[in-house]
Amino acid sequence: MRIVFLGPPGSGKGTQATLLKERLGVPHISTGELLRAAVAAKTPLGLQAKAAMDAGELVSDELVLGLIEERMASDDTAKGYILDGYPRNLAQAEALDQVLGSLNRPVQKALALMVDEEQIVQRLAKRAEMEGRSDDTEEVVRNRLAVYREQTAPVADHYRAKGILVDIDGVGTIEEINQRLQNALD
Ligand code: AMP
Repeated sequence: MRIVFLGPPGSGKGTQATLLKERLGVPHISTGELLRAAVAAKTPLGLQAKAAMDAGELVSDELVLGLIEERMASDDTAKGYILDGYPRNLAQAEALDQVLGSLNRPVQKALALMVDEEQIVQRLAKRAEMEGRSDDTEEVVRNRLAVYREQTAPVADHYRAKGILVDIDGVGTIEEINQRLQNALD
């Protein structure tokens, strides 16, 4: 199964993608994680991406596209994938269609986790305490939410127009939400 996960930061995409990956036996590909690894390893790409990430802005489309092209061309995505954190704007959605089209591995379902902003600010404050991510401070979180609203939310329409978008209520326990996602995939 070839899946794209949509939803604001803190909507539980990462947690749910990890659970689904076990069940479906496909790789979970998170551009945020790939970028954080590049920053930690101080690769040229990491050094270029860091400032935007620390500010809660999007890293340039060009940089992230290079990363995703390379990752999606790996053998392990032939059996499917769960993409988390990409695409983040309409240009990325279109670029992704091209990449996946030429690999003959197009997206089959886009799952959009719906959570309101109030809940998200609370959840991310908790995550900041537990994980200490440098972009989970209140000011950066607000910026990430604004970026989501303005640039990423329209991506859902891209998949809705293809008839493959499923909206999922993202409020509830991890198990409840996982069940909703499984129902959407059955
Ligand atoms: P995430 O872990 O998905 O919340 O991503 C953390 C940060 O990495 C984001 O706030 C962006 O700065 C950057 N990032 C992740 N994915 C993308 C993407 N597809 N395009 C641009 N920037 C991204």
